[in-house]
Amino acid sequence: MNLLTFDIEEWYLEQQLGGRAEKYAEYDHYLNGILNKLDECQIKATFFCVGEMGRLFPEVIRKIQGRGHEIGCHSNIHTWLNKMTEADCREDTYRAVDSLEQRIGEKVKSYRAPAFSIGENNKWAFEILATNGIERDASIFPAARDFGGFSSFGQKEPCVVEYNGIKLKEFPVCTTHVLGKEIAYSGGGYFRFFPLSFVKKEMSKSKYAMCYFHIGDLLPEAGGVPSKSAYEAYYKEPGTLKNRYVRYMKTNLGKKNAFEKMMKLINMMDFVGLQQSDDMIDWNSAPVVKL
Ligand SMILES: [Zn+2]
Repeated sequence: MNLLTFDIEEWYLEQQLGGRAEKYAEYDHYLNGILNKLDECQIKATFFCVGEMGRLFPEVIRKIQGRGHEIGCHSNIHTWLNKMTEADCREDTYRAVDSLEQRIGEKVKSYRAPAFSIGENNKWAFEILATNGIERDASIFPAARDFGGFSSFGQKEPCVVEYNGIKLKEFPVCTTHVLGKEIAYSGGGYFRFFPLSFVKKEMSKSKYAMCYFHIGDLLPEAGGVPSKSAYEAYYKEPGTLKNRYVRYMKTNLGKKNAFEKMMKLINMMDFVGLQQSDDMIDWNSAPVVKL
């Protein structure tokens, strides 16, 4: 079973930077391309959208919903959960879910934290999600990664998370062994880095794969190394020249032709979204992770 997911925040982030019409048009163009491809391949995916997109760009949310895809939640303003207090996370999640539900007129049941930012130190986030009616989560990166990851999670297939009396269905990122290390391959910078043939081979040999894409991750960057203030505002760590340069290199690695590469992958594999996948899984025999 291959899951196809998109994280949608680009329009909102652009609005925060001043809102250039040509960037909105660019994101609309690429989103339309994705939606047409999904129609052509008869795939229903899950689009995790930031709550503020519901308030500021309702037409984008409604367009995705109108083509039959699931609208999930991707926090309210794309602040990473491991940079928030529990109280702030509670407020952020409530606002996000409320904003999206007002736009789509139905319950939001799936969630992904920005940058997979639920880990060992903020497991309380699961309780907040459940309180807000979330039933399916896709926030776990079960290996070490920059700014977090949850390497002690222990599962890389759909499982049930139990924490403090609540239960949630978890759809973690899938990983593979490369040179003795456990790493992801089916989204973000990993997808850009590996050849398409490798991604396809890994997906074909496993019974579960989770693909995750941001439109912005797939387009070549026009700007240069971010300013110290912009870096610190976004990453919440010192904007030294080294930090800014390393991050710039990583976020731009393999961007050339990355969008076309993703479209080829969509063409050659079968995919479902979280909603469909939930119905296909026998949860009674799924592994249970007690946190
Ligand atoms: Zn995101």
